[in-house]
Amino acid sequence: MKCSRCGGRAEIKLRQHNASFCRDCFVPFLQRQVERSIEKHDMFTRDEEVLVAVSGGKDSFALWDILISLGYKTTGLHLSLGIGGYSDRSTEKAVAFAETRGLRMITLSLRDEGLAVDDATEFTKRPACSACGTLKRYYFDKLAYERGFPVVATGHNLDDEAARLLGNVLHWQMEYLGRQHPVLQPSHEKFVRKVKPLFRCGEYESAAYCFFRKIDYIIEECPNSVGATQLHHKKVLNQIEAVSPGSKLAFVQEFLDKAQPLLRDKAIEPPGTCASCGMPSHAEVCARCRLLREVESKRLARADRLRLQAIAAAELEPVGVAEPAISAASTSDQRDVDHT
Ligand code: SF4
Ligand SMILES: [Zn+2]
Ligand SMILES: [Zn+2]
Repeated sequence: MKCSRCGGRAEIKLRQHNASFCRDCFVPFLQRQVERSIEKHDMFTRDEEVLVAVSGGKDSFALWDILISLGYKTTGLHLSLGIGGYSDRSTEKAVAFAETRGLRMITLSLRDEGLAVDDATEFTKRPACSACGTLKRYYFDKLAYERGFPVVATGHNLDDEAARLLGNVLHWQMEYLGRQHPVLQPSHEKFVRKVKPLFRCGEYESAAYCFFRKIDYIIEECPNSVGATQLHHKKVLNQIEAVSPGSKLAFVQEFLDKAQPLLRDKAIEPPGTCASCGMPSHAEVCARCRLLREVESKRLARADRLRLQAIAAAELEPVGVAEPAISAASTSDQRDVDHT
């Protein structure tokens, strides 16, 4: 297999592009693909400081590395989600990536904010991914706004976008379809632009990019991803892709070219302002503040229950338990008297 660019020995075949590459040609090829997406969709310019959401996984590292290589100004943002040891290991990878390259990165721990993803699953009936999505969106928006970044870039790739599109089409979610685009313009003064520069790059490409660039990323999957609907959709799309290469890219790109413009006016109304935290919200209180209130009230209720149980257990304790101490004291007193 020969490299389509230089004729040398190819190490990767991209069936959707009907091309093969050696590693020296693949790296600039992918970087150029991303640059074209950024330029075609006016995602950001080289004068703007981009806040890059970095999870510790291959997609966000590939994105950050590509943006730096292309000469964009970036700062990383890592949210430690509070999903058991998985989050600690992800944070270690993100911190190591930034430190070894001398990059700026903001790190925020959801546990320190009083609402980790594990708390949401422990105290509420919300599925982990739904709570996690709410919290990620909230803190990306909040930090970008408070620190003055004009744009947030996330590592969503072609597989993510195709699976999301399939999910939205299966249920004809017109509002979501109206908002599914690689560039989301702010609809509130406290929102900033959100962009997905990797939306045309598959998971396979970002993994190969990290491998060729020797980027150490977290390989284990989030424990909450087991059984997630999006994974089923990805599986189905991979089966289609195997028999018809290029289907995923065509599915997403043609939706964006042909259908999405017709659905833009179906997108939900602009948000108001959360009465509790002041961030944008479609309800009186935003989804994150509602989640926080629910977790806090259930945490208090549990603490009260445990306190009552402890009191009840103490009351039931047999009186005789204290006796040895009393008799020992009396004996000792007696002895003291004797000794004097
Ligand atoms: S799989 Fe779900 S819980 Fe885990 S990081 Fe992704 S969205 Fe969050
Ligand atoms: Zn080559
Ligand atoms: Zn709020």
